[in-house]
Amino acid sequence: DILIRMENVEKYYGAFHALKAVNLTVRRGEKIVLCGPSGSGKSTLIRCINHLETIRSGRIEVDGTTLDNTPKTVDAVRREVGMVFQQFNLFPHMTVLENCMLAPMRVRKVSRSEAEATARKYLERVRIGNQADKHPAQLSGGQQQRVAIARALCMEPKAMLFDEPTSALDPEMVKEVLDTMVGLARDGMTMICVTHEMGFARQVADRVIFMSDGAIIEEGEPEAFFKAP
Ligand code: ADP
Ligand code: ADP
Repeated sequence: DILIRMENVEKYYGAFHALKAVNLTVRRGEKIVLCGPSGSGKSTLIRCINHLETIRSGRIEVDGTTLDNTPKTVDAVRREVGMVFQQFNLFPHMTVLENCMLAPMRVRKVSRSEAEATARKYLERVRIGNQADKHPAQLSGGQQQRVAIARALCMEPKAMLFDEPTSALDPEMVKEVLDTMVGLARDGMTMICVTHEMGFARQVADRVIFMSDGAIIEEGEPEAFFKAP
């Protein structure tokens, strides 16, 4: 049961060849950790799945729909695939609750009261329900990132993409965000995580994929990857 499929995907930034014949299939419920050196194309790969980047050639399919550039398809994939960034990208002028209500109201067209109920549910789930009326700047980095995760969950996505979600955090806040991600993984969420946190990879990844210079060069189970030399 394949949820995400990439076939021979080629991505360029101008003349720069950023993804080279990338093939990847992600089963429903599968947890993938994407690693590799800086600049190897990890972020580009996941951004293509969410149509934050357009590809030169190849094919990307999400839950049976092949991405094209039509607004309908882009809309559909953004509903089904949540994304969490290194910088939390919360709206500073809105409260935590309002940040979480926005997309469900705008994109899923749910009522204000339903959006609020959903937002409170997911804020509770990342254990930040008591901060709902604060503004992002009043929270720690770790709390802000958990809000960003809750905000993505409010769209009730089928998969979640994480782009170095702990890289911008002070060390003491990394664990609370990783614990939240572990919780999501245990609940069966399909996840692709770009992260350097190898403990997390060992704990949750079904598959570790290693990229270099725009290509997938190796993949395997975490045990095979991280076994002592
Ligand atoms: P990683 O996530 O593995 O660090 P990225 O996917 O961010 O790698 O970047 C891959 C390569 O593409 C890098 O060389 C980067 O400089 C380049 N790149 C990324 N985004 C852009 C962009 N918007 N314009 C031009 N080059 C880019
Ligand atoms: P404990 O019971 O020791 O606090 P849990 O595994 O219940 O540990 O939760 C650890 C962290 O994971 C919590 O901070 C919580 O925010 C997060 N968490 C647990 N379950 C989920 C979930 N389903 N979705 C998102 N975050 C979760």
